[in-house]
Amino acid sequence: MPDELLERLRRFQTDAFPLQRSLFKHLVDDGQHPTTLFIGCSDSRLVPYLLTGAGPGELFLVRNVGAFVPPYDQSQGFHGTAAAIEFAVLNLQVQRIVVCGHSHCGAIRALYGEVPAAAQNLARWLDLGREAALPVAEPGPEVLRRTEQRAIVLQLERLMAYPMVRDRVDAGQLTLHGWHYVIEDGEIHVFDVGVGQFVPASQADNAGTGPYQRFTEADRLDYSGVPMVDEGHG
Ligand SMILES: [Zn+2]
Repeated sequence: MPDELLERLRRFQTDAFPLQRSLFKHLVDDGQHPTTLFIGCSDSRLVPYLLTGAGPGELFLVRNVGAFVPPYDQSQGFHGTAAAIEFAVLNLQVQRIVVCGHSHCGAIRALYGEVPAAAQNLARWLDLGREAALPVAEPGPEVLRRTEQRAIVLQLERLMAYPMVRDRVDAGQLTLHGWHYVIEDGEIHVFDVGVGQFVPASQADNAGTGPYQRFTEADRLDYSGVPMVDEGHG
């Protein structure tokens, strides 16, 4: 039986690698100097290199279920995403942090349902998105989309609680970008802090929002346009 994955590995070295051999040599000799920390959902349909046109050496990637940012709590756990944020900001001195969620996100949908009993780590991890969930019983497409977007803003807020992030944002050395990728349209919607909304990239004048300003609680909990649970009918 042919091992297709092995075939692909061999093809990379024989076909793809030679085209970029000098670039990789440069990145080895000079080290990596990525300018962007990209925190994205693990979803297989989200392909950061395709979306940004980035090549080797440009993106420092962290991916996890939901594109979540854990709180900066200094507890002694194995905090992979937090460690990556610290490394990217303190060692690599990235200039941008992108938090990229997407449409049809299973993590966001799971906020409204059950996860398997055996998935204890997953259940705990999803807590990082719960604040973004809306008070509806049966989330339709619009509620899910708004929840996906609210979750992205929530992660940006958590990022600002990392001292090394806040210091650099305040100093104008680092910008935070909230992106919502709509898979079926092939379009990123960029969070605009000024208007408090996600703007399609085709209409946005900036890939991000400049220095991130903290939202008030009222802004963040704006449920306008979202159908609520009808109390009268359960
Ligand atoms: Zn996802």
